[in-house]
Amino acid sequence: MNETMKSIVIHAPRDLRIEEHALPEVGPGQVLVRMAAGGICGSDLHYYNHGGFGAVRLKEPMVLGHEVAGHIEALGEGVESLSTGQLVAVSPSRPCGNCRFCVEGMRNQCLNMRFYGSAMPFPHIQGAFSEYLVAEVEQCADATGLTPGEAAMAEPLAVCLHATRHAGEMLGKRVLVTGCGPIGLLCILAARRAGATVSRPGSPARWEARGARPPPRRGTRRSRPPQRSPRSLRIAQRRATQTGADTARWRNPFAPTTACRS
Ligand SMILES: [Zn+2]
Ligand SMILES: [Zn+2]
Repeated sequence: MNETMKSIVIHAPRDLRIEEHALPEVGPGQVLVRMAAGGICGSDLHYYNHGGFGAVRLKEPMVLGHEVAGHIEALGEGVESLSTGQLVAVSPSRPCGNCRFCVEGMRNQCLNMRFYGSAMPFPHIQGAFSEYLVAEVEQCADATGLTPGEAAMAEPLAVCLHATRHAGEMLGKRVLVTGCGPIGLLCILAARRAGATVSRPGSPARWEARGARPPPRRGTRRSRPPQRSPRSLRIAQRRATQTGADTARWRNPFAPTTACRS
């Protein structure tokens, strides 16, 4: 195996480079994963287009990517639960193990979470868009039987399952999903699986059939996605009410996906 690997590194807005990095060493309890597929998240696009989002800014070069899947290339000492060649979905969240939440077993609430491809802390947390990645065993979920692309969707799907759970009991409810990017589509699947009927903003005729005023056409100023302000939040909720939905879901690029009860 080569001593180096290629990584996709963002330096500044629109300054994306493919660089040679040293192959990482595999420690005890870790595995070396040969990357097979990676999803490009909205946050990756924000780093590429704007150098960050909100108050989060790139301050040093950073490898992008956190929605990834790959095959196990090598096992570290003591690893018995995984085998070489196995396809795994890799969780990008790496809790510190020391903070009060980690100690209490709420590792998902870790105060010092090291999330792949994040410029929130400094030094930045390097991402997963590399040919190889060293991961802890507990980050790897068996994805045998899936395609690498499907396995790479595990992280965004987890976001949507979380949103669905926040919305509460969905069986028999009507749900409005605005925005049909990957997260919106996965939210539709998650809501349907939870027993809901899903509406999404469709043609004006479809809105009028429900006795509701259709939203302005795409591209007009008023039709910007409801995502940035309390006012746009109210608009999203009003739209949900117009369709008779019990629950609305929208995409806020500066916060985890949110679901709310109207
Ligand atoms: Zn993401
Ligand atoms: Zn912690």
